[in-house]
Amino acid sequence: MSHRSKGAAIGIDLGTTYSCAGVWFYKKNRVEIIPNEQGNKITPSFISFNDSELLVGEDVKRLIGSRFTDPQVQKDMKSWPFKVIEGPSEKPIVVVEFNGEEKKYAPEELSAMVLKKMKEAAEEFIGTEVTDAVITVPAYFNNMQREATKEAGVIAGLNVLRLINEPTAAAIAHGVDHMEDKDWVKEKNVLVFDLGGGTFDVSLLRVVNTGSIDVKAVGGDTHLGGEDFDMTLVNHCVKEFEKKHSEDISGNPRALARLKVACEKAKRDLSSTTLASIEVDCLYKGIDFSTKISRAKFEELNSGFFEKCVDIVVKCLNDGKMDVKEVDEVVVVGGSSRIPKVQRMLEDFFNRKVLSKDMNGDEAVAFGAAILAEKLSGNDNNDSVNRDLMLLDVIPLSLGIAVDNACNGEKDIMCVVIPRNTCIPTSVKKIFYSVVNKTKVRIDVFQGESMNVKNNILLRQFSLHNLTLCPNGNSELEVCFSIDANGILQVSAEETSTGNRKSITIAKT
Ligand code: AMP
Repeated sequence: MSHRSKGAAIGIDLGTTYSCAGVWFYKKNRVEIIPNEQGNKITPSFISFNDSELLVGEDVKRLIGSRFTDPQVQKDMKSWPFKVIEGPSEKPIVVVEFNGEEKKYAPEELSAMVLKKMKEAAEEFIGTEVTDAVITVPAYFNNMQREATKEAGVIAGLNVLRLINEPTAAAIAHGVDHMEDKDWVKEKNVLVFDLGGGTFDVSLLRVVNTGSIDVKAVGGDTHLGGEDFDMTLVNHCVKEFEKKHSEDISGNPRALARLKVACEKAKRDLSSTTLASIEVDCLYKGIDFSTKISRAKFEELNSGFFEKCVDIVVKCLNDGKMDVKEVDEVVVVGGSSRIPKVQRMLEDFFNRKVLSKDMNGDEAVAFGAAILAEKLSGNDNNDSVNRDLMLLDVIPLSLGIAVDNACNGEKDIMCVVIPRNTCIPTSVKKIFYSVVNKTKVRIDVFQGESMNVKNNILLRQFSLHNLTLCPNGNSELEVCFSIDANGILQVSAEETSTGNRKSITIAKT
């Protein structure tokens, strides 16, 4: 993306709940995870304005690069303790009280505060200025979310060398960690299964011991993770409370929030025991709540979610044109992959393969990002990193434009220009024809897998005017989609007969 600036380069895992940064440390010839001012290697992604207002990174990560009108934003907003309003170009704006004053922040400004904190901790640790960074994003982040994350880096005063998918960074860490092992064969197909608090990411990669990492396919769900498992437990408890006490607590946010904390703890307990207690004093109208939940019941309640995870793995293997038997290693990361049932389902699916759980999940992503940061910062003195770390990543979602539907006359059909899981960087050209007798054409750029654009994400629209129509009444247009190594898209449309051209970078709107 950019050239190396003068200072050090770090890798930052801008996590939903915690963030973590790493740097290549020459004295030790390895990556060091950077401790914060309290000496902790992971830093909560919290932004605090005053005692009563605390923004959580998880919320900000759900907002970044979204539109205010997104149904998911509208739904999430209801459970947030801060106000969100609509800003220019449908951007959601967070409103907080600070020193008695109302302040408004765009999500990227808030993420920038977390990034700045990580930058400063790194400067303190390394003793030099940090200018460059590789920042990680969920593999399933769309183009607008990526652009907004990049913008957050810029606001934090960082030259963003590259955005990299979190599971890819974990795979780099895993690869570099194991390449020297005696039993490491020359090439391995590695599947990274990353089930976190709010998101699920799968990546299928080919790792070669010369340092080449080739992402074959990515898959996932931006709204599947530990939060969902907590909520099934919460709903189960709400029913139980109603049965026992004939009271419905589902409309009481405070009771639900307290119940959720207890359920999350019980869920974690169930990863090591087969029976857990859920207890909340004075949950509602002075009534204490206490129940026990078995691991079997927890698994039953969440079986739909767990099966969805396996379905997504199947889809990723299909996209990567790889058979189950060809996967040499399954690496599990993310807090929710500690759930025994999830591990058992994966082991069974991969013919009783032993899962690789040795990576420090909290640090692996930052570790991988730090290695890439070192590589991209162009420092040639480093043999360990410069084994030609070659990274070939893919786009997570298909990109295309809306075209007319012959059945209903609406412009609602998704014509894919670059299919999902295409290797990047890439550039694809396609010929389209304008509507007969119209001297203007609007290009609507969408991202997603549905045949109907209404179910996909509208990235941008732009128009090409003053078309010179051919004798048959329309105009031939060459549309070109180019994606850089960060997954950021540029679209151009050119009338082939005249060279009349318009180009846009799909940046945040
Ligand atoms: P991450 O985003 O990777 O830090 O994952 C956070 C999620 O993992 C949260 O939903 C946690 O509740 C969940 N989690 C952490 N530890 C466990 C565990 N031992 N068993 C089940 N879920 C866990």
